[in-house]
Amino acid sequence: MSGRSVRAVWSIRNSLPAPWRRRVRAAADVALRPISSVTGGCDDLARVALTIDDGPDGRWTPELLELLDDKGIRATFFLLAYRVRRHPQIVRELASAGHEIALHGWDHTRLTTLRASEVRRRTNDARAVVEDVVQRRVRWFRPPFGAQSLSTYTAVRSLGLDVAVWSATAEDWVDGSPAEVAGRALNASRAGTVLLMHDGLEVPDGSEMPSFNRTAAFAALLDGLDARRLRPVALSELVAGGGAARTAWFRP
Ligand SMILES: [Zn+2]
Repeated sequence: MSGRSVRAVWSIRNSLPAPWRRRVRAAADVALRPISSVTGGCDDLARVALTIDDGPDGRWTPELLELLDDKGIRATFFLLAYRVRRHPQIVRELASAGHEIALHGWDHTRLTTLRASEVRRRTNDARAVVEDVVQRRVRWFRPPFGAQSLSTYTAVRSLGLDVAVWSATAEDWVDGSPAEVAGRALNASRAGTVLLMHDGLEVPDGSEMPSFNRTAAFAALLDGLDARRLRPVALSELVAGGGAARTAWFRP
């Protein structure tokens, strides 16, 4: 699927009424499983995958690491290779604390704007940087902005990476108090959710960086999940035993 046909399909899908959208989605999920991305996990245990994008960040990642350590929680960090080069020691600490290290790309470029050969080269280079720092294989890739075409998907899968997107977010690119940000994540979370959060948020040119305290938002989120008896885990733990929910996820 080219960028243009993804945009066309996306606009048709958006023009359908919600019940039809769900029916189209359910039929497509079965047919398109071989080209699908992970959106969730098994929902018979009260767990959510805590996934954290765009880092490492010199300020927030060490604070978050300490918070997660205190609570005995392991998360999955989708890292940007250019930032890993800047903060290799933080990344080694994440790995040695038992967190799952995953790949978000070389930088935050929207892959659907690039040729497939370029996507493959950049993703392969980025993976080499991350794997060299943590000395372990990376399993998961998440495209920046969730932007994916069949061509970028195939390029990433050809490198042996599996694609994971998300099923809930805190919209933590929008400012608010830490309690409000955590509340958005909690409202969207249920058993089996893959929850998207950010430590080192990459904001598009011209947009303003939200000013709330990210560590305080994570603390409120972890308390809220605990109150709801939902246990945050790393993505591989959520989908262990073949429990992954997958969908054909293509968007410009
Ligand atoms: Zn991102």
